[in-house]
Amino acid sequence: MTVTAPDSMLPDTWDPVAVITVYGTPAGQGQVSFNGRGRGARHTNEKWLKPWRAAIIQATRDRTGCHGYTDWDGICLTCRVPKPQHGLYANTPVRVELTVTVDKPKSNPKRKRTWPITQSSTDIDHHARACLDSLSKAGVIKDDSQVTELLARKVYPGEHPEALDQPGAVIRLYTLTGALS
Ligand SMILES: [Zn+2]
Repeated sequence: MTVTAPDSMLPDTWDPVAVITVYGTPAGQGQVSFNGRGRGARHTNEKWLKPWRAAIIQATRDRTGCHGYTDWDGICLTCRVPKPQHGLYANTPVRVELTVTVDKPKSNPKRKRTWPITQSSTDIDHHARACLDSLSKAGVIKDDSQVTELLARKVYPGEHPEALDQPGAVIRLYTLTGALS
């Protein structure tokens, strides 16, 4: 039996609105790190996460001109937009394509393509969390919950069309076609 998808089930179409390039050492959010082999000493990675998030926020603001919400009696001190509407692309579905370039360990072959599949490269969903959280902090979107499509990948420098030549990330932002008023 052939099933034909009705029109309402066509995939969403997206308008590219920004490409944000961030340099720095990518760090995951919600990550558990291990200190010492087999020791299981847990700690958060604040030391790396803070500067990485700051780098994403700064790059996002530089690229898009957005700013963070600073409360002033329920509206933004900078632009006087109320909190529920605040964000360059607020209240609209958003698609994010994230490519994280992580440092290639010295032990890996230089001329051969390899993939970041060890714990040191951080879980992909933790990279995504750090990215989406920073995007809402930057003020380009209002909240992470706006993101209805997410593509995340991690690669080594120069080993993918979207890879940078050094550690960092490329974040492609899209809004749903026809949704922006
Ligand atoms: Zn504002």
